[in-house]
Amino acid sequence: MIKNYINGQWTASTGTDHVDIINPATGELIDQTPMGTATDVDAAVQAAKAAFPAWRQTPVIDRVQPLFRLKTLLEANADDLARQITLEHGKTLAEAKGSVRRGIQMVETACAMPSMMMGDILEDIAPGIDSQSIRRPMGVFACIAPFNFPAMVPMWFWPFAIAAGNTFVVKPSERVPLTQMRVFDLMAEAGLPDGVLNMVHGGKQAVDAICAHPDIQGVSFVGSTPVAKHVYVSAAQAGKRVQSLGGAKNFMVVLSDAVMDKAAETALESIIGCAGERCMAGSVIINIGDEARRQIPELVAAKAGAIRVGDGLSPDTDMGPVISQASKDRILGMIQRALDEGAELLVDGRDGVDEMPGYFLKPTVLGNIRPEMEIAREEVFGPVVMLAEADSLDASIDWINNSPYGNTCTLFTTSGAAARHFSYAVEPAMVGINIGVPAPMAFFSFGGSKQSFFGDIRAHGRASVDFYTQSMVTIHRWLKDSSIW
Ligand code: NAD
Repeated sequence: MIKNYINGQWTASTGTDHVDIINPATGELIDQTPMGTATDVDAAVQAAKAAFPAWRQTPVIDRVQPLFRLKTLLEANADDLARQITLEHGKTLAEAKGSVRRGIQMVETACAMPSMMMGDILEDIAPGIDSQSIRRPMGVFACIAPFNFPAMVPMWFWPFAIAAGNTFVVKPSERVPLTQMRVFDLMAEAGLPDGVLNMVHGGKQAVDAICAHPDIQGVSFVGSTPVAKHVYVSAAQAGKRVQSLGGAKNFMVVLSDAVMDKAAETALESIIGCAGERCMAGSVIINIGDEARRQIPELVAAKAGAIRVGDGLSPDTDMGPVISQASKDRILGMIQRALDEGAELLVDGRDGVDEMPGYFLKPTVLGNIRPEMEIAREEVFGPVVMLAEADSLDASIDWINNSPYGNTCTLFTTSGAAARHFSYAVEPAMVGINIGVPAPMAFFSFGGSKQSFFGDIRAHGRASVDFYTQSMVTIHRWLKDSSIW
């Protein structure tokens, strides 16, 4: 049975319920996650609270040394971690390796904390008086993670938080906790003092206990929009800082001057990569002009039909399964309702999947998508390509901006003027020009807008310093009252 990590020890959960961890490629039971209680959360928070004073006083250049060592350990164990991700999540080994690489980049960037958290100083704000603004760690922070990036998403947060001098509690997704547990073992091997980093497993009960706990200063959440909203409201009500990243609906626009073959390939990869289980996954492709309308559906359908679906551990696999039978059923339901609403079936990803073990879907391509359809409005989180048309770039921008979500969007074009107009006018906070997954790297900050992001300070990069520190100002005047100089 899986254990919590409290004060440097793997410790039994007090929860009596559990959730099965299932290999989605085979349907086999891997392990069971205990559903932790408020008692477990409190034990982790008390350990983190007790570790905070000494950790805060540890010079920042010493605080980042375990992270430098962790980087080396992560590099040495990257293949094993990727395999673990594929086993518990299902994505291909290549995709899993890419996500481990992104996690390592978070650690590398957090190692720059001595420079990142420097403050400002100004002499003579009045005669003989100097003022300094500093950034100070605040205490215990927590993050709550989704299932789709078992290694990377928790690492968007805790390396930055602890480098800044805070202590931390991670609540991984109950469906994929194993990879992050291995990262914790590596962090312990790297010499992080006990209590600085803790882990509690569970679901709603643990999440609600985190949001309510009086000794947690702030919460970072990533997951679906309804839960993101719930966490934002309940943690803020308890007086905490909150950054809450939610679901998405990402549009990709193709102009007729785009490099068509590359646009089709990039858009398809964006939509079906990680079996569509990415908050940055493209969804509806809006074609504008004769060439885009003629070429993109044909190119995308041909490429989608050639995708090899299978166990992510096999080198021959292009796309793995979705996470669960419930997820597969939900996606199948959305496809059927789209067809009932008049969508055209160009590639049927339902063909032959019921004979496969696990939770497989092949890429489905739907044409004739209109803005009012459910599938054009709601997040699918599965490998479904939707093809639509618009009369002008401004009409596609209106479509994007009318969506309640605002994570990302992309324009494929060779026109700088069109790219500039699009970037300027769209509301999603992460924009790609000829880039299918415009995910900011570790040294930039990550987060969407509207229903895709609740809060005002985004994840990782410089924003993480704002989120994980309190700024304060001291004003000094030194009166000469002796004759020693
Ligand atoms: P989820 O909302 O079901 O779960 C996320 C976390 O919330 C888990 O740790 C889970 O234990 C907890 N949780 C679930 N239900 C809860 C409830 N009722 N009350 C309190 N806590 C609860 O999300 P998921 O299915 O794990 O992940 C997929 C979603 O995450 C998608 O919508 C995707 O777009 C989103 N996501 C967003 C980003 C982003 O950066 N915006 C990144 C990754 C994933």
